[in-house]
Amino acid sequence: MPPAELALQIELERVIRQGAGQLDAQVLCEVASGRHRFPVYAISLGNPAPDAPAIGFFGGIHGLERIGAEVVIEFLRSLVVRLRWDALLHRQLETLRMVFMPLVNPAGVWRNTRANPNGVDLMRNAPVEALEQVPFLAGGQRITRWLPWYRGPRNAPMQAESLALCDLVERELLSRPFSMAVDCHSGFGLRDRIWFPFAHTSEPIRHLPEVHALKEIFDQTHAQHSYVFEPQSLSYLTHGDLWDYLYLRATQSSERVFLPLTLEMGSWLWVKKNPRQLFSRHGMFNPGIAHRQQRVLRRHMQWLDFMARAASSHSRWLPAPQERARHYELAMRDWYGTVTGAT
Ligand SMILES: [Zn+2]
Repeated sequence: MPPAELALQIELERVIRQGAGQLDAQVLCEVASGRHRFPVYAISLGNPAPDAPAIGFFGGIHGLERIGAEVVIEFLRSLVVRLRWDALLHRQLETLRMVFMPLVNPAGVWRNTRANPNGVDLMRNAPVEALEQVPFLAGGQRITRWLPWYRGPRNAPMQAESLALCDLVERELLSRPFSMAVDCHSGFGLRDRIWFPFAHTSEPIRHLPEVHALKEIFDQTHAQHSYVFEPQSLSYLTHGDLWDYLYLRATQSSERVFLPLTLEMGSWLWVKKNPRQLFSRHGMFNPGIAHRQQRVLRRHMQWLDFMARAASSHSRWLPAPQERARHYELAMRDWYGTVTGAT
């Protein structure tokens, strides 16, 4: 058996080999840690046409949160198997581009650290400053790489892993009229959360009606789901969020729609059910026990599949101009505590 620290990398490479001929796998960059070098992979499949909708799946940005990478690799693995027999999946891929970056920070996984080998928290590494008060340290800090949530040196380029992610998103997602992203994390709270931007301000994003319409079809389709779906700013604000940065780039000068979502799996429940996990660094971020791990993987497969279907079918649920006001009003009421418009 390989060490647990390498198991994800080995599994990802196995899935890539299994899908050879049907997937396009690239090494975006290599990251060194001691005498080891880790390739950072991107995998794409489906229709590459510039007007096709696209969806991206990301995991392993924080090296300790292995379950996020496992969810993404498991979803990719199931797609690769389905490519052999599932005609409906082939139909879907005729009109959809799918991209995967399941292990953004492979050296952090290897080293059992949240940060990359330079001590930088990749999710605090983008050139975005919070506009309001952020939590001390956890909101992102430039004091020292020896404390967590380090943003990297001021005015330095982004880390190789962050740059690779941003380049992939620009190339494969922001180049299209409609795209979404799902980035899988764990470690915050008792419940599974689906977050949308912003993280740097408590102001709503321009595409609030579109996000609300997505939540509406999700609630209606999976009526029993137990996710909390809300803006990240309701939990905490941070500097340097990669998805805020990419969303702002996407919406700067165009009509394109880019909806980046973060799945934040509520690990405190796993700890509550098995308090011994408190004594291991992994236990705080991962399900621990095998049957719980399987349940976690199973539950989130449905969410990732929903997102792929929603991306394929965006023209059927994106609100028409005359419906945007209703979604905006409901979203402001549910998420921002504001009643707008006429009474
Ligand atoms: Zn995380």
